[in-house]
Amino acid sequence: MHKPTADVIVVGAGPAGSTAAYFLAQAGVNVLLVEKSRFPRDKACGDSIAPGAVEVLEQMKLLPWVEAQGFVRQQGLFLSSPDLTSVRIWPTSTARLPAYLIPRLALDERLAQQAVSVGARLLEETFVERMIRIESNQVRLLARQANQTIELTCRLVIAADGPHLSFTRSLGMVSSPPDAVAVRRYYEGVEGQAGLLELHWEKSVLPAYGFIFHMGNGRANVGTGMFAKDFQRLKPNLHELLDRFVHNNPYARQALQHARPLGRAAGMPFRDDAERINPVANNVLLIGEAAGVGHPMSGEGIGPAMRSAQMAAQVAAEALTRGDVSAQGLSAYARHFHAEFDALHKSALLARSLLTYPFAVNLAIRAAARRPQVAALLHDILLGLISPAEMLKPAVAW
Ligand SMILES: Cc1cc2nc3c(=O)[nH]c(=O)nc-3n(C[C@H](O)[C@H](O)[C@H](O)COP(=O)(O)OP(=O)(O)OC[C@H]3O[C@@H](n4cnc5c(N)ncnc54)[C@H](O)[C@@H]3O)c2cc1C
Repeated sequence: MHKPTADVIVVGAGPAGSTAAYFLAQAGVNVLLVEKSRFPRDKACGDSIAPGAVEVLEQMKLLPWVEAQGFVRQQGLFLSSPDLTSVRIWPTSTARLPAYLIPRLALDERLAQQAVSVGARLLEETFVERMIRIESNQVRLLARQANQTIELTCRLVIAADGPHLSFTRSLGMVSSPPDAVAVRRYYEGVEGQAGLLELHWEKSVLPAYGFIFHMGNGRANVGTGMFAKDFQRLKPNLHELLDRFVHNNPYARQALQHARPLGRAAGMPFRDDAERINPVANNVLLIGEAAGVGHPMSGEGIGPAMRSAQMAAQVAAEALTRGDVSAQGLSAYARHFHAEFDALHKSALLARSLLTYPFAVNLAIRAAARRPQVAALLHDILLGLISPAEMLKPAVAW
């Protein structure tokens, strides 16, 4: 048997992949992080880093960097409904750590560097195409680098290739279509409070919703998102939908009246079907959005991706020590994964189905405008601090 390229190869250096590589390297594992792009590279995202993600950043010793860069701290929510009822919700004190707004161009590069700083190796501009299993303790990956095909070998592969599943699909582990789609564009010269997250259920784009996240210094990340079921039915042009939101929503019109777009709008699919996925196979663990960990109601994907990566890194390190990277030897990850995501996803899916009805959104935002307890609950659900099940309890619903 040849000496493998690494014990573990992580495919994809987004938040999931870099986090997994960091914790594996910390545990003394020989790990190679393979990324198809070259950093710095952008990723279509709202850039909201919720407290759950900040907690993992803290464990990765990245909070001093976040503060030193002056990334803006979130300052709560502004929500509006189709009937134009609105509510301003200040951050609650539930979270131990603040939430931030951090451009992915900066965050993803820093996460990969942090993995490298503790011993992971990073191979950029390398697109992993497929895996061939050689024996129980060794697999080969075929990858494209410039115009050449190269081979990499390892004992265990962690697939972290995000919502397009460009590598995961070839493993036959996930083949479902995406669950949502979203598009966003940066603007400068925007009016509004730095750190404020605006969410608008604008009637001219329903069943899509619009967002304006104020990044500080007059910059904002502005986007629209739609669930796949509605997208397949209506087949809208997402870029036109974003323009419609910007031109028709009174809050967006006000905030963007003197604003200029920065670059083109960029879109991405979104996956949140973790409860239906088996994230373990012989020599393979699936993490991040490739494993459908996105929050079905809030669209938060970074924190869950990092959390799944942490769990996978721990199970992988233990399995390598035992010398058993079979599906059976890795099965603890599937147990942790489903304990973490299944109940949350089921209640979020139920709550989300209600949010596609304008009258339900009108009711929820009216209730939040009248009752601070409801407003606080909505804030904590949307920031991933508590389960949407709290909102569905009969006493609260009443
Ligand atoms: C418009 C929009 C707004 C969003 N807003 C937010 C938000 O505000 N907050 C939040 O928490 N979440 C948000 N999300 C979700 C969030 O962006 C994702 O959940 C998160 O990026 C998932 O991280 P990941 O590491 O699993 O995948 P990704 O971030 O997609 O990373 C995957 C990486 O793998 C690489 N890759 C892919 N295929 C291969 C291959 N075959 N070989 C090598 N490399 C490969 C890619 O280049 C990429 O670097 C949003 C999503 C969208 C679409």
